[in-house]
Amino acid sequence: MLIRQEPEGLYCEAGGFYIDPTRGVERALITHAHADHARRGSRHYLCAEPCRALLETRLGKKQSIETLAYGETCLINGVQVSFHPAGHVLGSSQIRVSHRDEVWVISGDYKLHPDPTCARFEPVACHHFVSECTFGSPIYQWPSPESQWSRLRQWWQRHQQMGVNSLVLGYSLGKAQRILHACHGMEGPILVHTSIHDCIPAYQAQGIHFPPYQILSTSTLRAHDGKALVIAPPSARVEHKLATPEHWEIMGVSGWLMTRTQRRKKGQCHGLIVSDHADWPGLLEAINASQAHTIHLMHGDSRMLEQVLGSEGRQVMRMERSTRKIETSSEGS
Ligand SMILES: [Zn+2]
Ligand SMILES: [Zn+2]
Repeated sequence: MLIRQEPEGLYCEAGGFYIDPTRGVERALITHAHADHARRGSRHYLCAEPCRALLETRLGKKQSIETLAYGETCLINGVQVSFHPAGHVLGSSQIRVSHRDEVWVISGDYKLHPDPTCARFEPVACHHFVSECTFGSPIYQWPSPESQWSRLRQWWQRHQQMGVNSLVLGYSLGKAQRILHACHGMEGPILVHTSIHDCIPAYQAQGIHFPPYQILSTSTLRAHDGKALVIAPPSARVEHKLATPEHWEIMGVSGWLMTRTQRRKKGQCHGLIVSDHADWPGLLEAINASQAHTIHLMHGDSRMLEQVLGSEGRQVMRMERSTRKIETSSEGS
């Protein structure tokens, strides 16, 4: 097999490279800049061109990072490699690897729903498709993002009239920029956590523009108290630092909020169902579009997909990563 699972991650022996390795290796191909896919310690990195600035933000500027434009090919020890849009976050890629008539596509994380902050998922034909299955159950079917953003608008407006601040929680890379971009045309002050702000230049460099905002601080909060929309990552736990908890309403933005138990677990009654991963119909569509005879599933509970694809006569294999613990708390859901 051209690609196989090693303790360090997906490995292409013929090419001598890893894809999204879990620890430092000689040559790492990176699907996207989320922490569970892009790790420090490798000697050489290769990613899609729009991913570069984000990778530098995450790993540091001193790394050796080479890039390819989407669709551009290169040879690594005789193995042909190219990157194709995955629609997950800015710069996210499916990686196509081909050698001696065998073609693999490693999808990384992907989604099919439209997202103005990154290039749209592009199906790539292959023999072996390595697919994530974070939301591998028919209960996950996303509403249109537009319907969710208009809920955000109404929610924020209502709070402004009541003199209450609105806190929206989204991961600092990808989700938060998607939320901020959706605020185009909404009225009122937007305050953004600094970890979200740090990623903004990478977006602007790709021609993606955002409505005006200020960086979240005690003084900007004080200046806009009772009117502000604050965007922050859940990990920043800004809700615990708020001076007047009674003057806040909090909303999560995640695919997991589709189910009531998850909402309860997260302590949130409100939530926008917006995900950067494929929902059930998206997974099936992407897998079909790949035309692959063998589907390798990773990230998430693959049992239902295995059943459905198996009943269609497809070869289905489970690819285990050694980092499931990290994956469950990973970014970008
Ligand atoms: Zn991701
Ligand atoms: Zn991931």
